[in-house]
Amino acid sequence: MADYLVLARKYRSATFEEVVGQGHVAKTLQAAIRSGRIAHAFLFAGTRGVGKTTVARILAKALNCLSVDAPTPTPCGKCDACQAIARGEDMDVIEIDGASNRGIEEIRELRSSAIYHPARSRYRIYYIDEVHMLTREAFNALLKTLEEPPPHVKFIFATTEPEKLPATVISRCQRFDFRSIPAGEIRRHLQAVCKAEKVAVEEAALARVARSAAGSMRDALSLLDQLLSSGGGKLTEQEVIDVLGQPSDERTAAVVAAIAQSDPAKALAELEALLAGGMSLEGALGALAEMFRNLMLVLTCGPDSDLIELPEGPRQQAAELAKKFTLPAAVGAIGICTSTARAIRGLSNPRGLVEAGVVRMAGADKFVDAASLVERLGKLSSGLPAAPLRRPQAGPSAPAGQAFSNEQKKKIAPAEDQLAPAQAASPAASQANEADPDAQAQTQHVNDAPGEEPLDWRPEQLPAQWSAVMQALVGRRQAALAGLLAQARPQATEAGLLRLSYGLNQELIRRRAEQAAAQVNEVLSRLFGRQVRCEFVSSQQEGKPSPGNGVGPVLSTAQREQLNKDPAVQAVLEFFDGSVANILPAPSGQQEPQGSEE
Ligand SMILES: [Zn+2]
Repeated sequence: MADYLVLARKYRSATFEEVVGQGHVAKTLQAAIRSGRIAHAFLFAGTRGVGKTTVARILAKALNCLSVDAPTPTPCGKCDACQAIARGEDMDVIEIDGASNRGIEEIRELRSSAIYHPARSRYRIYYIDEVHMLTREAFNALLKTLEEPPPHVKFIFATTEPEKLPATVISRCQRFDFRSIPAGEIRRHLQAVCKAEKVAVEEAALARVARSAAGSMRDALSLLDQLLSSGGGKLTEQEVIDVLGQPSDERTAAVVAAIAQSDPAKALAELEALLAGGMSLEGALGALAEMFRNLMLVLTCGPDSDLIELPEGPRQQAAELAKKFTLPAAVGAIGICTSTARAIRGLSNPRGLVEAGVVRMAGADKFVDAASLVERLGKLSSGLPAAPLRRPQAGPSAPAGQAFSNEQKKKIAPAEDQLAPAQAASPAASQANEADPDAQAQTQHVNDAPGEEPLDWRPEQLPAQWSAVMQALVGRRQAALAGLLAQARPQATEAGLLRLSYGLNQELIRRRAEQAAAQVNEVLSRLFGRQVRCEFVSSQQEGKPSPGNGVGPVLSTAQREQLNKDPAVQAVLEFFDGSVANILPAPSGQQEPQGSEE
């Protein structure tokens, strides 16, 4: 420990001008001394290692310097008082550690000694570090002295936790807030120290030390001490990395870079490195969310925005990374991070969920703009014209987060018709349906165009005529169903069994169609004027008996998960922070938002 403090002591600022990172405090104090309006008590608030004790000693020197006969903004640093104060050994400047002298007895002692005049200087100065540690009784005793301080007494209180101080104490102090020292200022100071010490260092090594010190000059100097004492020759960046490890923000950036490359394997490996560095899962999610927030800010406000709280280097990195993301992608990623953080609370083994979140973010299809998402959704729906992006629609009574209650499952098929053009054109009907889902289920097929001749059921010609069948569906205001059936390969039997097989990449559509089986059966039966029963198979299932029972839509948990895995669906959900209640293709010319939204 003694070794660690060598540089910090040796290069402690000795004058207000030398103070690093707290120029505002130094200037205000100098001005006060110059004007002769010197408070009785000062409060220095700020995190550790930012210069509170250093400034307190400079202030003590300014008040007590023996080279002039009044307080001076520029103490000499050479007189006995200045030198003793600099060492922390002056008889008139009493430094007290509030953490270890926190009781009433110590403060009583202080009060009784305060009545004595200083031995050789103008003031008796009490510097109480970590003053918030004092007990309440001690504070009360201190307050009496603060209320009527002897003219020859000055107090300097320092605290890392000003909010723990009684307001009665704070109100009697002139308060100075010490800021965390920017990494750039720390780096420059380290450079000066290294130059004075005549040690060779790589610029990048100092930058790393400065950044890892997180605003604390004392920590930075301690680290530099440690690095210089362990190595020989020039201090390199690699040595710093070896000692400090790679900082978590770089690891976080590496995860995000892998996500940008749509490389889930790499993203997981980088996540592993981030966690191996000692970061918790919650911390990792928070760091990722923060990184994506910065990217979002770069994309919305530009890389120079004040909202981005990053030093120069990381800010440039963020600007570079941001080029690889669209705004919806960055926003969506923040959503994934925060929802995953919520989801893992209280889980005994949450890592899988976090990894799943990273894999989702790295899903290649996710990082497209909204326009291509819309197009993709349009294609998913059928080959119909691309639909306008709409919020996922929850059914009328769907509680948030339970989009697939049993009730909902039953109503999924009827809900399909919410998008039927005739209904959309009639707001009253639409509202009525929203208000009463049962009415909706009962009235939906009223919209079928009347008077159409049934199509002939010709099983062997059905594949060739499938698109004509779809046209007929659209003509009967069943565009939504057509959207679900258009991409299927039909195989029919004379008995009215219609097997619809979907390609592997159409699994989502297949499921939706299967969920709407009852409605599909009914509509097709009407279309062909005979009983038609459909089976919905993936191409790998062809030939096997269908597991579906044909009575109605069933959405299992596994199916729901599968649905939720589709990157395009995910992107929309994250963008709107919603959940899937239903997936509805939207025919063109019908764009009003409908249904209650989640
Ligand atoms: Zn002096």
